[in-house]
Amino acid sequence: PRLANQIAAGEVVERPASVVKELVENSLDAGARRVDLEIEEGGVKLIRVRDDGAGIDKDDLPLALSRHATSKIAALEDLEAVASLGFRGEALASISSVSRLCLSTAVAGAETGWSARSEGRDMAAVVAPVAHPQGTTVEVRDLFFNTPARRKFLRTEKTEFNHLDEVVKRQALGRYDVGFSLRHNGRAVHSLKPAASQLEQERRLASVCGPAFMENALFLDRSAIGLRLWGWVALPSFSRSQADLQHFYVNGRYIRDRLVAHAVRQAYRDVLFHGRHPAFVLYLELDPASVDVNVHPTKHEVRFRDGRAVHDFIFRTLHKVLADVRP
Ligand code: ADP
Ligand code: MG
Repeated sequence: PRLANQIAAGEVVERPASVVKELVENSLDAGARRVDLEIEEGGVKLIRVRDDGAGIDKDDLPLALSRHATSKIAALEDLEAVASLGFRGEALASISSVSRLCLSTAVAGAETGWSARSEGRDMAAVVAPVAHPQGTTVEVRDLFFNTPARRKFLRTEKTEFNHLDEVVKRQALGRYDVGFSLRHNGRAVHSLKPAASQLEQERRLASVCGPAFMENALFLDRSAIGLRLWGWVALPSFSRSQADLQHFYVNGRYIRDRLVAHAVRQAYRDVLFHGRHPAFVLYLELDPASVDVNVHPTKHEVRFRDGRAVHDFIFRTLHKVLADVRP
């Protein structure tokens, strides 16, 4: 099973950013109101994710680190409308098979917290009592210490950290109701309070996407035929040479999808042609039964039941908003 896990780990654990994605998704699944990340050396030396979520029962602790031990699917039909972000039940096992992992956790009202450690193995080797407030802390040290071939594929510390930071930004723009902090090598990178009002959300946006984006952004919120599109689009004049400021969420989940990208691009092109990339942070909400967000675990793809209606709705909505401000 150890070998199998290391092979499977290649699917999920590609680099430090993929570890962060899985750990933060777990924190959000556990109902965390804040998530604090401490990173050292681009995540290769240390990734520590602390949350104030529900925590894990002592009895479930060894299980949480073993393969296919998800607590998130009660029945197979639930796959039809997976509301929680994770459902594969192998992220922790995969990560622990290629690192030194320590998980500390406490549930509400427990007398003590519990910690489990593992080193490149399937199961938590040691479970011991530990002082921990309600919630969970996962520490991942020395990523790929036992898989030198994979370690060799890592880029510079700066590049790995940029990937990781991008993941955190995506998650922070997907959950305004959760506070996030990120420190790298002891330096504060993000400190984001929960944002309820539009003003607070725009403050978070300015912090994550830069003040220039916010100054050039239009807010929109339209609903029709069971679809809602809201968020911020930058004026066509604030376009970018890279597609690095394009955030699109479907039912709160970050996606990159050709159909969506096409609809957005067409709207911008139609209003004002230019070869540069539009900047936007947009949220599409629709009945979970009319979209499959789990086409591929890591590729951010979705499949809409009625792709044409979704495409036309996005296109028309953006077209109208952009045409209204055309100079
Ligand atoms: P999945 O998220 O797909 O269920 P994981 O390997 O990511 O699989 O996690 C395994 C299990 O460990 C989860 O189903 C959950 O019960 C528990 N778990 C992991 N991280 C946390 C966390 N931060 N807070 C509470 N429970 C957690
Ligand atoms: Mg998970």
